[in-house]
Amino acid sequence: MPNLNDFSFRAQPRFNESEFRPLFAKAVNLRTVLIHCFDPRASEVPAVVAQHFGEVYPGENVLDEAGNRVGHTTTLFPVSVAGGRAVAGVQSIATMVHLFGIERVVVVHHSFCGATSFTTDGIIDAFKHEHGSDISSAFDHDSICISDFESSLKYDAGVVRAHPGVPRHVEIYGFFYNIDTGELTEVVSDIPDTVNA
Ligand SMILES: [Zn+2]
Repeated sequence: MPNLNDFSFRAQPRFNESEFRPLFAKAVNLRTVLIHCFDPRASEVPAVVAQHFGEVYPGENVLDEAGNRVGHTTTLFPVSVAGGRAVAGVQSIATMVHLFGIERVVVVHHSFCGATSFTTDGIIDAFKHEHGSDISSAFDHDSICISDFESSLKYDAGVVRAHPGVPRHVEIYGFFYNIDTGELTEVVSDIPDTVNA
């Protein structure tokens, strides 16, 4: 087995955390983090959102002279999570803020999502009976299922806005995506007032 630590940035010669970090922003011109559902029927969402905002996606690798992958041309990173719920994406957002800096977070919930097929009480009861475990306090109750798209998108935009890992200047959008027509409908847009930001 190779020494796996050889493949970490911090193991490279002359590595210095504060000097190294700005190189990330040069390697990828990241602007948008997208949180969406991993339902394969909604797999077009990253491309549709990229087109809507004029982002580059999926883009391609940037190689150095030796052929190593040292960057990428995409400007949008998708985060695929159950239901596209923001609670599962905030750690990814904060990490991307730290490494690349971002301008925008987009949350997308889609038609006939599995998260609209059960209730919070229903999934808690099912885990009790089927797995003998109590998940009632394991998750934020308002982030488990989707009972109403307008409410879930507004709630998730609020989760992102309230998170300390999301800088004040970041724009936050919530969209509904129709998996059958491909139509994207804007439900929430939270654009900070730059004068007072
Ligand atoms: Zn879904």
